[in-house]
Amino acid sequence: MNLQTKLNAAQNSFESWRKTSFSEKQILLTKLAAILDDHSETLGTIITKEMNKPIAQSIAEIQKCALMCRYYAAAENVLQPEKVKTEFRISEIHYIPKGVILGVMPWNFPFWQVLRFAVPAILAGNTVVLKHASICFGSGNRIEQLFLEAGFPKGVFQNLEIGHAEVQKILENPIVRGVSLTGSEKAGAEVAATAGKNIKKSLLELGGSDAFIVLDDADFRNAAESGTKARLQNCGQACNAGKRFIIQKSVEQEFLPIFIEEYKKYVPGNPLDKETLIAGMARPDLADDLEKQYQMALKAGAEIILPLERISPNEFIPGLIKVKEGNPILEEEVFGPLGMVMLAKDDHEALKLANDVKFGLSNSVWTTDEKRQQYFIENLESGTVSINKSSSSDPRLPFGGAKSSGYGVELSLLALKEFVTVKTIVGN
Ligand code: NAP
Repeated sequence: MNLQTKLNAAQNSFESWRKTSFSEKQILLTKLAAILDDHSETLGTIITKEMNKPIAQSIAEIQKCALMCRYYAAAENVLQPEKVKTEFRISEIHYIPKGVILGVMPWNFPFWQVLRFAVPAILAGNTVVLKHASICFGSGNRIEQLFLEAGFPKGVFQNLEIGHAEVQKILENPIVRGVSLTGSEKAGAEVAATAGKNIKKSLLELGGSDAFIVLDDADFRNAAESGTKARLQNCGQACNAGKRFIIQKSVEQEFLPIFIEEYKKYVPGNPLDKETLIAGMARPDLADDLEKQYQMALKAGAEIILPLERISPNEFIPGLIKVKEGNPILEEEVFGPLGMVMLAKDDHEALKLANDVKFGLSNSVWTTDEKRQQYFIENLESGTVSINKSSSSDPRLPFGGAKSSGYGVELSLLALKEFVTVKTIVGN
């Protein structure tokens, strides 16, 4: 099927899908959740084979997709017309699905990112076409089949096997009414520019360089375990990974040895082995990029705590470096198994360091003092602030970025309103 035929199919399907009731759509989502759960091992294997994620984490990704589908399958219909009290006989707000929405998605969570965007967009009455990362066409095709197996009509979700050079043309096509992109800042800026030129809605979920702040009254063992997982899960390739560990100077000697002990548990292994905690990066060129960033940071004065050791084209023994303000690595996203430690004398300095990057996705703060927690809650510039836990998305709660981490919201009931037109009805 050529691209125009697929877009036409998405548009045709939209005409009837928009009239399908919210509750009928929810029944199909319940079926989709069951299929995901029933096939979590085989679907997880697709992920692992495409991008090397350790299989236990791939299976967990599929199970999280099922959980999210079940959340929306039971969600309140916040898209029903709302009456507003005015002097007019009728005054109402209606939420109208926009039509065909394009998803441009990354390889790091090949099922989760796609479904996290597509499920609320589809439940709101839109249809979806997907441009997946070029190493994840297998996942994209399998997701299309899953929608059909769950009983969604043909054309509600379609995978387009295209390279990124074709995104602009698709977005310019009058059938496509909006775009959601999860990926790098560069891709986001280009896609949003095309959307803007064509007056189409865009939603961007971009990179991060989140702070993981450990203060002197934190539970160090818990913080070290969670911090290690936050940095090294998915081989460090997560947007909301803890990337900068800002530690209160007075407890450096106490915290660092525990952190190092946890960090050393992540030894590269076979991604298909369920015990493996960390495997290779998704592509060797990404490992090249990480190595360059490491060398750049060292040249600019970073100190090695644990060396980043490349042991194969895409595998590393994870590294940890101490960096100071002004190191150029802080201007970039570090997307791999390399953590950065920074020291702060007090809460104010910790906050300043945390906010002193262009990104603002999902910071995490470890302190048992509620006043100190409040200070960070009010002043951290990020879409999410996690207290005494690492950052993780939850279907019930909104997820989105501040600053260069993007705009718009995924997950929660708010996501249902991202790709709708608000229509006001008023009169006598
Ligand atoms: P990427 O290179 O930006 O690719 C993401 C998607 O955009 C892929 O489908 C890619 O297609 C496409 N793309 C790339 N350049 C494009 C362009 N100029 N025009 C249109 N489409 C373009 O990112 P990635 O390496 O796959 O993913 C890692 C990035 O995603 C990191 O920055 C990470 O932080 C971010 N991320 C953010 C979130 C969040 O929720 N905020 C979640 C996950 C990941 P090709 O594969 O064909 O190049």
